[in-house]
Amino acid sequence: MSDQFKGIEPMVYNSKINVPYSWWAGDTATRFFVSLRDGKKITATKCGSCGKVFLPPRKSCPSCFTENTEWVDVSDEGTLISFAVARRQFEAIPKNKKAPVIWGLVKLDGADTALLHYLDEVKPEELKIGMRVKAVFSESRKGTARDISPFKPMK
Ligand SMILES: [Zn+2]
Repeated sequence: MSDQFKGIEPMVYNSKINVPYSWWAGDTATRFFVSLRDGKKITATKCGSCGKVFLPPRKSCPSCFTENTEWVDVSDEGTLISFAVARRQFEAIPKNKKAPVIWGLVKLDGADTALLHYLDEVKPEELKIGMRVKAVFSESRKGTARDISPFKPMK
């Protein structure tokens, strides 16, 4: 690199990509979404060999390589395992949310794995790993992850 570019600020090039897509949910995710939509129930799959409970539900156990055929209901309350805070608005943030936006990994009671979702009704400085949170169900559920809309701290 020649000296004329030394210390120069890298440019930010603004552009936009709009990519519509469809996602085939399959049997496992479909059952999970229908339970959320129709029953406000959070369901997970359980491994018949090691007993691990997977949420989001998995069709097979990644440890035992067996098909998970058992379904269990898990609690709508759980523990915050990790979180991330977006302090600036950017394209990936839904239009109805304003920065700061918080994503949390939530391990619901009865599950062995964690679900990634939004957290609301909490300030970033109040977040603590291990805090108890509860799912809030959307009034107009459509069979998507947003039927939980979103998690909030338990008081
Ligand atoms: Zn297993």
